[in-house]
Amino acid sequence: MTPTRAELATRLVEAGHQIPSGVPGVYGRSGEFEAILTGVSQAFRGLREQPAEVVQFPPVVPVGSWLKTDYLESFPQLAGALHVFSGTDKDHRAMVATQVAGGEWHEHLHPSELMMVPAGCHPLYPMLAGGLPQPRRFDLMAHCFRHESEEDPLRMVTFRMHEQVYAGEPDGAIEHRELWLGKLVDLLRGLGLEVEVDVANDPFFGRAGRMLASGQREEALKFEVLSLVAGESPTAIASGNAHRSHFGENFGITLTDGSPAHTSCAGIGLERTTIALLARHGMATSEWPAEVRKRLGL
Ligand code: ZN
Repeated sequence: MTPTRAELATRLVEAGHQIPSGVPGVYGRSGEFEAILTGVSQAFRGLREQPAEVVQFPPVVPVGSWLKTDYLESFPQLAGALHVFSGTDKDHRAMVATQVAGGEWHEHLHPSELMMVPAGCHPLYPMLAGGLPQPRRFDLMAHCFRHESEEDPLRMVTFRMHEQVYAGEPDGAIEHRELWLGKLVDLLRGLGLEVEVDVANDPFFGRAGRMLASGQREEALKFEVLSLVAGESPTAIASGNAHRSHFGENFGITLTDGSPAHTSCAGIGLERTTIALLARHGMATSEWPAEVRKRLGL
């Protein structure tokens, strides 16, 4: 029987794997936790059959690029903006005085030109702007931020996603997603997790969002790899997305015939997968099945 989400949260903290920060969804992590996570990430990378360019981006993205992803229209409730102080000495004194008095000191801050990265592959697309003479594949690991307010050990505000991304022809994009969904399922089953694939149900915001959500479902653009980790409903621990020409159009990525490039990505949630493994095999990796330990280099 799977534990409840609250039970799992307590176990993770008691075992020292998750160090609560006081804010739901934001945790420190143990060395053992990080060793599992690194093993998962490397096992995922090891499944590549074709060469991919390995790239790495910071956890923040310029606001202009962020707007081109249409995240503002789709998921405003999950977005995170960075605000900074850029005032004078006088403004600084006023801000400190406001804080000391228990007031709204944040009002002295101003929006910076940066947003938090909400999805692994988003920072990649600006670098592809222009002509794409041939398909390109990328392997990237990203620190993501989503303003999740629910207290749930599987719903994190900051987390890492390892993705394999494709940019090129329409058929190639769908093939890439299918290939990697299959690989993800095999990898996770090989690690002892019970998983199934289903069409995704993303939390698009508001009335307009309901239309986006039904379009996503009808066109089967996104699939999730689900596993029952805790509680009664399964959790998505990996996914495969076909974006069609959405990013190609918005970022001006064009194929040789002038049409917009198609993109797709498949990604694994590294913290969620690590927690799924801890829930499945126990809190001490020394007691895990030898095969799983070997696969993860533990
Ligand atoms: Zn992606």
